[in-house]
Amino acid sequence: MADPVTARRGLMLVLTSPSGAGKSTLTRQLLQTETEIALSVSVTTRPKRADEIDKVHYFFISPERFIQMRDAGELLEWAEVHGNFYGTPKAAVEQALSAGNDVLFDIDVAGVRQLSAMVREDMATIFLLPPSVAEQISRLKRRASDEDQQILKRLKTARTEIEAWSDFDYILVNDDLDRAFMELRAILHAERLKQRRRPKLDALITELGRDLDRVLEN
Ligand code: 5GP
Repeated sequence: MADPVTARRGLMLVLTSPSGAGKSTLTRQLLQTETEIALSVSVTTRPKRADEIDKVHYFFISPERFIQMRDAGELLEWAEVHGNFYGTPKAAVEQALSAGNDVLFDIDVAGVRQLSAMVREDMATIFLLPPSVAEQISRLKRRASDEDQQILKRLKTARTEIEAWSDFDYILVNDDLDRAFMELRAILHAERLKQRRRPKLDALITELGRDLDRVLEN
């Protein structure tokens, strides 16, 4: 049985950013460093990139299968991004949360809005920004998997996405990767301690109250 002092409801930690802000690097570092948090692996109809692994980075599926899942209510949220469909499979998330584990979501602004309308209580949302457009473009070019046309598409999307910054609980500016990572971990750790995520402390509170009463009586 879980220790009541540490037991808590699972947290949905949402990390969103315009392309080229360094989100993938931070996500990877967080998953390597922290325990009790797993990535929500999305389904997508986008072709797999050379450095991606099916079922690890995404479940790469056909448009037909995507529509089937969406229409069967198997997706918690979904969006179309740059002509491809992306969605969050519901079952895995529900399983992790009910086991008290945290789930990290790498989803776009439209997906965050859908999730917020359903499960705001369980969520902490973070918006990651690049320090400048020059740095953003240089990160996109370094990735080398996208052609110039694709990069331009991502920058156009970024232009509208940055306007959503004020909907998020936390804003990180990635001008120094080490600092941004430290800040990301600080958010995770603080969110885990939120009162509403720790409903199992009743027994400890009762015990503290009883012992304090006993001490104060003497
Ligand atoms: P990429 O093709 O670069 O992996 O992802 C493109 C965009 O789709 C990113 O902003 C990413 O956060 C978003 N995305 C990935 N998976 C999902 C998902 O399941 N739902 C939503 N709404 N967006 C997603």
